[in-house]
Amino acid sequence: MNNKYEAVIGLEVHAQLKTQTKIFCNCSIAFGSEPNTQVCAVCLGLPGALPVLNKMALNLAIKAGLALNCSIANTTKFDRKNYFYPDLPKGYQISQFDKPICYNGHLVIDDKKIRIKRAHLEEDAGKLVHAGAARLHGSQYSLVDFNRSGVPLLEIVSEPDINSAEEARKYLTELRNILRYIDVCDGNLEEGSFRCDANVSIRLKGSQDLNTRVEIKNMNSFKSVKNAIESEIERQIEVNQSAGKINQETRLYDEATGKTHVMRSKEEANDYRYFPEPDLVPNEISHAFINEIKASLPVLPVQLRQKYVNEFNLAYDDAYVITEDKQLIEFFENILDQKINPKMASNLLLGPTIAYLKENKLELNQTKLKIDHFKDLVDSLESAKISFTAAKQVLNKAIETGDSVNNIVDSLGLSQISDIDTLKKYVLELMEKYPSQLQEYRSGKTKLRGFFQGELMKATKGKANPQVLNKLLDENLN
Ligand code: ADP
Ligand code: ZN
Ligand code: MG
Repeated sequence: MNNKYEAVIGLEVHAQLKTQTKIFCNCSIAFGSEPNTQVCAVCLGLPGALPVLNKMALNLAIKAGLALNCSIANTTKFDRKNYFYPDLPKGYQISQFDKPICYNGHLVIDDKKIRIKRAHLEEDAGKLVHAGAARLHGSQYSLVDFNRSGVPLLEIVSEPDINSAEEARKYLTELRNILRYIDVCDGNLEEGSFRCDANVSIRLKGSQDLNTRVEIKNMNSFKSVKNAIESEIERQIEVNQSAGKINQETRLYDEATGKTHVMRSKEEANDYRYFPEPDLVPNEISHAFINEIKASLPVLPVQLRQKYVNEFNLAYDDAYVITEDKQLIEFFENILDQKINPKMASNLLLGPTIAYLKENKLELNQTKLKIDHFKDLVDSLESAKISFTAAKQVLNKAIETGDSVNNIVDSLGLSQISDIDTLKKYVLELMEKYPSQLQEYRSGKTKLRGFFQGELMKATKGKANPQVLNKLLDENLN
């Protein structure tokens, strides 16, 4: 990016709440059912049908708000957001306008605070399926599936505190991790349960201006969010430098071209004519209710990260990787509970374990790895029964077969030789086998120590305990 400018970015995330049923009726929200099989008078918007707020949705929204450091409103208030679209049978969406359930929160990304303006509850719309033989521009007709109509969403709106595409990616990653961790949202991007729109403007570095912004939609992976923002920043800089004007508009990201293009301009934007939803009366949210939810919150990943760094001496990056994944967190917490050496365990977990999971596209609990493997591996390392290289081999085998560490060490013949007398025999043999090298070494060519070390490792098939070996070389070569 041209370094005269800096990007200003605010993100709007729609997170689907992990309830059983929809936000204002009892229909299931299960994904992937036959179209229009999870509908009723309420979510089809039939006249006279009355919405009733799903307490679980409220509960999850507050839980998310607390985890995002938000204040929680003291009443529920809903508003009608009016617009016409075929996937919106009522002609309005029930959302929250002036009194969002959560407000004034923040997330910390690399020591920088990104403020969260608000997080409000709303219902999802149905889904248009564009079908029929494609003509020049799109499909011949469209079908509507109302299964999604009324699915509970939490819209989380950040302040424009994000200044690069990479920071946006990190914010989204952290947000998704938190929501998944506290079991509020499954964060499944493919199924649309975590969707993001990005607002982007640019300004001269050092200025505090909030210039005209563009909203980008249609990004369905974190990578495409990053690419879309990057390409939009470039475009705005070019427009600026050619003395053009940036228009407030909504643009769509096209994955294929890697560019954004106009969807609608500000003039075409809807006037939503918000007004209070008369069918839902405000409900008081008591302190007791909030405190109950607060008490149910687990220690959050960001706090665990601090704990791992401060109390257990893990490198920040290592702590970060562990706290990005709920299963890794659970596993590592278990390691700490069982007083297994955390540094050694994290080396085993972060290196070979994660490499294996990535390569085989598995999650930790889809493997046969158990906490006992780690206990025994770390024991074997600490007692120098095996080397770290051997430990990695054992671990890979354990993940695959679930067999015990002892069995694997035996079957692969990986036991380290630590016995002084055994190793000493090897050393003396070598000294006899290479008399000239020994003499050169003794007359000052100390580099040859490496030669003896290497030969010894060869002779013992890599199983010599390096510490014992070093000591023996010190004692005998000189
Ligand atoms: P509106 O009320 O028009 O929806 P908001 O103030 O709610 O606007 O902002 C919507 C999103 O746009 C927020 O995420 C906010 O951070 C972001 N935003 C606001 N102004 C700017 C700007 N100048 N540049 C980039 N993003 C912005
Ligand atoms: Zn329904
Ligand atoms: Mg808005």
